[in-house]
Amino acid sequence: MGRRRTWAEELLRIAVTNSASIAGVVRVLGLGHSGSSHGTVARAIASLGLDTSHFTGRSWERIGDPAPGHKICGKCLREKPLSEFYRRGKGYQSRCKRCHDDALYDHCACGRRKVARYQRCRSCRDKDKSPPLTDISDAEVAWIAGILEGEGCWTRAGIHGRWRVAVRMTDQDIIRRLQLITGIGTITVEHSKKGYKTAWCWSVAARMHREWLTAQVWPWMGERRRIRILQLWPEVEAVLTQWQSSSPPNWPSGFDSPVRLDRNVAQ
Ligand SMILES: [Zn+2]
Ligand SMILES: [Zn+2]
Repeated sequence: MGRRRTWAEELLRIAVTNSASIAGVVRVLGLGHSGSSHGTVARAIASLGLDTSHFTGRSWERIGDPAPGHKICGKCLREKPLSEFYRRGKGYQSRCKRCHDDALYDHCACGRRKVARYQRCRSCRDKDKSPPLTDISDAEVAWIAGILEGEGCWTRAGIHGRWRVAVRMTDQDIIRRLQLITGIGTITVEHSKKGYKTAWCWSVAARMHREWLTAQVWPWMGERRRIRILQLWPEVEAVLTQWQSSSPPNWPSGFDSPVRLDRNVAQ
């Protein structure tokens, strides 16, 4: 003999009528949330032949609870697999990728996708930037190439992001001189953590700027750098040949022949 039931048959009938699941009945009856009380209630319902057609089944099939591996988007309220959500920390964003992108991006007058809070896309904004300083001397190019070979990196923001040339150093004067000589790039400061020096970063990301800079120093670059550059900008050699005869497309007018390949660099 098991323990005596602590609930009356009439209470069970009322609980079943007003619940959406066996677990709900267990709660109404004030029983512990265990497998045994779940089984006891299920058997009692079966023996009394109570109507459970209004039960909504396993909890994750109920409206409002997503299936395993799924999540309900807080915006479009559609249930989607977790792969349709961007990660956020250890979990996922509340909006699905589609809703997230719709809120973040729209289209520029030129037809490209753009971040909604900007008037124009990045390519259009880049066209406002002033061209590099072309009166740069061969000695200055060589100096820049030396810095880039030693301290520079050709890197990409994310897998699909645009590539850029960056130099990170603790010498502010060198970083300033890089910008002064070339007239391009932005400088950011990485404030020091305890025990570290403040670092300065010169970053060249606008398309015409990064391509101009890379073209300038290309003849000086070693094997490893060239392989890296080719990964990010496979057209570099074709573009260099093309630029010898004409100014790059989409560059501001009056800005011609940015690359001097006649330089004699010992290979
Ligand atoms: Zn959504
Ligand atoms: Zn645009």
